Amino acid sequence: MGKSLPLPPAMTAAPDLPLSPVPLLGQSLPALTDWVLAQGQPRYRGQQLHQWLYTRGVRSLPEITVFPKGWRQTLGEVAVGRSTLHHRTVARDGTVKYLLQLQDGEIIETVGIPSPRRLTVCVSSQVGCPMACDFCATGKGGFRRNLQCHEIVDQVLTVQEDFGQRVSHIVFMGMGEPLLNSDNVVAAIHCLNQDVGISQRSMTLSTVGLPGRIAKLAEAHLQVTLAVSLHASNQAQRQSLVPSAKTYPLAALLAECRAYVQQTGRRVSFEYILLAGVNDQPHHAQELAQHLRGLQSHVNLIPYNPIAEVDYQRPTGASIAAFVAALEERHIAVTVRYSRGLEENAACGQLRASRATASDPALVVN
Ligand code: SAH
Repeated sequence: MGKSLPLPPAMTAAPDLPLSPVPLLGQSLPALTDWVLAQGQPRYRGQQLHQWLYTRGVRSLPEITVFPKGWRQTLGEVAVGRSTLHHRTVARDGTVKYLLQLQDGEIIETVGIPSPRRLTVCVSSQVGCPMACDFCATGKGGFRRNLQCHEIVDQVLTVQEDFGQRVSHIVFMGMGEPLLNSDNVVAAIHCLNQDVGISQRSMTLSTVGLPGRIAKLAEAHLQVTLAVSLHASNQAQRQSLVPSAKTYPLAALLAECRAYVQQTGRRVSFEYILLAGVNDQPHHAQELAQHLRGLQSHVNLIPYNPIAEVDYQRPTGASIAAFVAALEERHIAVTVRYSRGLEENAACGQLRASRATASDPALVVN
């Protein structure tokens, strides 16, 4: 059951949980090999450990039956770093939402989204989120802590094991602001790529944008897609929806995005939540198109997913179509992204919020 969360602390202080010793999950083959060598075991046991962690999904080392029995019996206390399933919900469209309990009792949300040729995982990067965007359920709940690398990797393995199918795509669009936890997020991207075997090109990192953090991300030379949550076509509107925009103006964010495109040669996706009567009018589309002119980009329009705490409305089909047309007329690449599992509280942080309050008759609980 979700806990009630305290008020968000200062945005700059995103503490990491001190975990000792460092769990094995999230570590590379060379690091695991060093570990087995330090245990007095032959080098090839590193490869075995790697395979059992990432392919077989062991939760404790004594489960590794290829290890000699005597050694296995001494390994019961070694931290593997798997989280436990707290709650699982299947939506009518096949989307599966998981609440996972971390070692310190905190709860995070992960979503598995199947489609004919894909299995996408929406992962959390923090417990809660300090950004407090006005339309976001996670933001309403406050911030607890950053996730460690293994806690991010675990989410993907959990979905892969539950579906019995390889995960093909990862989106960092769950709870949290990934660029406030860059070190762990970048480490997790490398691990998911090299150790779990998922292409970086099939991963998307979504950020609200923080000064200098996109520039720093460019230096990591990743092949992931950068998605920037814009949500507004001018500064006044953006800062009313996204509090951090007050100290990081739209113009500065867009300049950082342009520099990112130049430096990496990769196009940027812009996410734009459509709120009826707020930011969904054709003149907003016009203004947005002006900002994006000449910038290699793609706009993802996300019709608002209603949350309990605020009374924004979802725009009508006609106004969504008019917004799309206004962008396309100006040669802006655009896609409308409808959220999956909508009736069952799929929106960011919603399942967790609803579990913390009342049972929902729309939920199909396994
Ligand atoms: N902090 C990151 C990633 C998490 S949110 C970011 O801001 O990008 C992932 C996406 O879901 C963001 O674009 C966010 O604005 C959007 N989102 C949050 N609440 C939503 C809601 N109620 N309806 C639709 N989209 C929402």
